[in-house]
Amino acid sequence: MAIDIKGVFSPLSAIGTLLKHPKTITYPEVKKEIPKGYRGFHVNDLSACVGCANCQDVCMNEAIDMVYPDKEYNPKNTSGCIPRIDYGRCCWCALCCDVCPPSSLKLDNICIHADYDGDNFLYMPINKDLK
Ligand code: SF4
Ligand code: SF4
Repeated sequence: MAIDIKGVFSPLSAIGTLLKHPKTITYPEVKKEIPKGYRGFHVNDLSACVGCANCQDVCMNEAIDMVYPDKEYNPKNTSGCIPRIDYGRCCWCALCCDVCPPSSLKLDNICIHADYDGDNFLYMPINKDLK
């Protein structure tokens, strides 16, 4: 019976990988740089949002519904509503941002969110400065 010498020693080649530089990063200690223009979560400057619902109308995934906030952010918002995003449906196409008349709705480069509660993927974007 012929012995497959190469087959016997090939597991030892794995030892060589211990000496190689790892291809992975130790997240969350090390964070990967997000490229410029990356489409992450929405932000909305509520002092400019006029509640027109263009963003809701254009969303092909029906990922936006209009909701009443707990306070008034913009007296020019005649409907009194602001958009809420369902990240179980959103595909980050940014059409909602393209059709926003005052350009209040934008995509930030923040793109990491982990949660056990599915309801926390329903998100009302606000301007970070207004939190
Ligand atoms: S990015 Fe696209 S899919 Fe997501 S909410 Fe906006 S229009 Fe809808
Ligand atoms: S975010 Fe823009 S498009 Fe959406 S309701 Fe506000 S003003 Fe209109």
